[in-house]
Amino acid sequence: MEKIEALIREIVPESSIYFDEPMKQHTSFRIGGPADIMVKPSDVKQLKALCAACRDTGTPYTILGNGSNVLVSDAGIEGVVILLLDNFARIRVEDNIITAQAGALLSQIGNTALRHSLAGFEFACGIPGTLGGACIMNAGAYGGEMKDVLLGVTAMDESGNIREYEPHEMQLGYRSSRFAKEGLIVLEARLQLQKGNAEEIAACTKDLAARRREKQPLELPSAGSTFKRPEGCFAGKLIMDAGLRGFSVGGAAVSEKHCGFVVNTGDATAADVLELMHEVSERVNKQFGVVLEPEVKIIGRK
Ligand SMILES: Cc1cc2nc3c(=O)[nH]c(=O)nc-3n(C[C@H](O)[C@H](O)[C@H](O)COP(=O)(O)OP(=O)(O)OC[C@H]3O[C@@H](n4cnc5c(N)ncnc54)[C@H](O)[C@@H]3O)c2cc1C
Repeated sequence: MEKIEALIREIVPESSIYFDEPMKQHTSFRIGGPADIMVKPSDVKQLKALCAACRDTGTPYTILGNGSNVLVSDAGIEGVVILLLDNFARIRVEDNIITAQAGALLSQIGNTALRHSLAGFEFACGIPGTLGGACIMNAGAYGGEMKDVLLGVTAMDESGNIREYEPHEMQLGYRSSRFAKEGLIVLEARLQLQKGNAEEIAACTKDLAARRREKQPLELPSAGSTFKRPEGCFAGKLIMDAGLRGFSVGGAAVSEKHCGFVVNTGDATAADVLELMHEVSERVNKQFGVVLEPEVKIIGRK
C-alpha cells in the first residue's frame, strides 16, 4: 500500500485523500466497512492517472458515485475507492442538450433542465444517483429510462483509452449496459431533451416525487429495489405474496411499505442484508419457482 499511497499523493491534493474511510458514510444503505483509501479526483487527468497508478501497482480500484445502488461488505473495500461525485459534476447546456460529468446528481441535472425549460428528464429526478451510476444501470422509473435520453457517453476503458459511445454502441437493457459489462468508467454524458413548458415540467416532477414518497420507504436507508424485476412479474409482489412483508434478519428488514425494498432499520450489517436476501430468494423460489436476481451491486471484501 505504501507505493500506491505515494503515487496518489503525487496525483491529487492531500485534502482529496481519505484513509480507512467508512463506506457507510457514502452509501444510501448506511452500511459498509472502510475503504483502504478513498480518493476524490477532480478532473479526467487525475482520474486517468489514479487508474494507471492502481494498475501499475496491482491495486484494485472501485468506482463509486452516490452509493445508492450498492451494498458494501462489512469488511470494507480493498484498495482504492474512486469517488466521482460533487468533485466531478459540471453541467452545461447548449440548445436542447445537457452535457454533464459523471458525478452530477440526477436531481441537479433535473433542476438544470427545469431552469432551461427542457423536458424529458422528469422521470429521473427522484432517482438518488449520479449520472455515471445511472448510465451503468440504465436507470429508469415511471416509464422512462436513461436509454431514452442518452445521446452520447464518454467513457474510459481499463487501459485509459477514452472515447464517446453512440446510443447504438451502449447496449442499454433492463438495468444493464455495455459500460457495466466491460468495466468502463463513465466520465461524461450528453442528454438529448426537448423544449418544454417549465410549469408542466415542474408539475410532472412534483407528481412523480409524491408518488415515490407515497409508495417507497424513503424514511429509511436502503439501496432502492433490492432485486431486479423478474420477467412478467414484480419482485415486491412475489415477496409480499410469500408472506415476507416486514421479515427481518438483524437490522435488515423487508420494508413494510414496499416489499421490493430491503431497509436498514438502524444497525443493519451487510451480513444481515445478505442473509435476508438469501432467505427471501429461497422462499420466493420455493413458492413460485421464480429466481430473484439482485439489482443492488454487492461489493467489497468477501
Ligand atoms: C430510495 C431509492 C430509490 C431508487 N429508485 C430508483 C429508480 O426509480 N430507478 C432506478 O433505476 N434506480 C433507483 N435506485 C437505485 C440507484 O439510485 C440508481 O441505480 C442510480 O443510478 C445509482 O447511481 P449511483 O451514483 O448512486 O451509483 P453507485 O451506487 O455509486 O454505483 C452503482 C454501480 O455503478 C458503478 N458506477 C458508479 N458511477 C460510475 C461511473 N462514473 N463509471 C463507472 N461505474 C460507475 C459502481 O461501481 C457500482 O457498480 C434507487 C435507490 C434508492 C436508494
